[in-house]
Amino acid sequence: METDLRHAIERSQLFLEYQPIMSLENRRLIGFEALARWRHPEFGLVSPLDFIPVAEESGQIVAIGQAVLEEACRQARSWQENHRTDPPLFVSVNLSVKQFRQPGLVNHISRLLAEFKLAPRCLKLEITESVFTENIEAAVQLLKQLRNLGVQLSIDDFGTGYSSLSYLHRFPIDTLKIDRSFVSQMAESEENFEIVRTIVVLAQNLGMDVVAEGVETHDQLALLRQLGCESGQGVLFSYPLGVGEIDQFIAIYNLTRPPFLNSVDGFQARHAFVA
Ligand code: C2E
Ligand code: MG
Ligand code: MG
Repeated sequence: METDLRHAIERSQLFLEYQPIMSLENRRLIGFEALARWRHPEFGLVSPLDFIPVAEESGQIVAIGQAVLEEACRQARSWQENHRTDPPLFVSVNLSVKQFRQPGLVNHISRLLAEFKLAPRCLKLEITESVFTENIEAAVQLLKQLRNLGVQLSIDDFGTGYSSLSYLHRFPIDTLKIDRSFVSQMAESEENFEIVRTIVVLAQNLGMDVVAEGVETHDQLALLRQLGCESGQGVLFSYPLGVGEIDQFIAIYNLTRPPFLNSVDGFQARHAFVA
């Protein structure tokens, strides 16, 4: 896969899709998460869950990550040029641990923001708890530098990783993303409901906001709203979209009174990954 992946980079087989992130309070679209895709000439779409770990292992993630950041910033700029939304839409980009620790990351991001004339707040970086497993002080310093640029910081898959809560209040984190595994069972399992509730309260107490990942049903949506979770992402709202579909989605959800979630057909179902 490593060799194939090298070809993929050279032959532009990698691309991005963007999954909408919605405000649960007012049904408005607030941003998108950029998600890497690989269209393999023989095997079709390969899941990032399969190729990102390989790229991480081989070091290719650095080049891939830089390309992802650049393309995501370019896209965010174009949404903002094409649509006036209030507040402006943000793009959320996943950073792998290796990429996070890559020297020059802060400079690279700073250059991209300038190149695309993107307000720093419109770029959100998703890191996982695994960046805190080694050298916490270095991680704190880096997060502070990123924060000084003005970009937003989010902890992805929150609750699944390194579970020391002691660092959380010391880190300049804007958002906790509740892992899909908790959200998906929250209507059926009291335990998962309690975990989601606890994360929402934790975030509120620390002055952070929360995004629920993997919202699939109206029951989950109702419970999340009841808990005061501000935003959500999941197939209930939309699958990750190709660039050609985004303008239409923004136009629909930027209405003063957007349609009820899930009542706009066409943004769900598609994109099944091959194993
Ligand atoms: P993630 O960052 O936690 O992204 C959310 C994943 O949940 C995405 O999977 C998304 O398609 C999926 N998802 C969202 N809503 C639902 C839902 O309602 N139901 C279900 N069943 N799934 C939902 P995807 O696109 O396969 O990405 C998987 C992981 O690959 C990502 O998890 C992220 O860790 C990694 N990844 C993707 N793109 C990049 C990238 O550009 N760089 C890095 N470093 N990692 C990436
Ligand atoms: Mg993510
Ligand atoms: Mg996640």
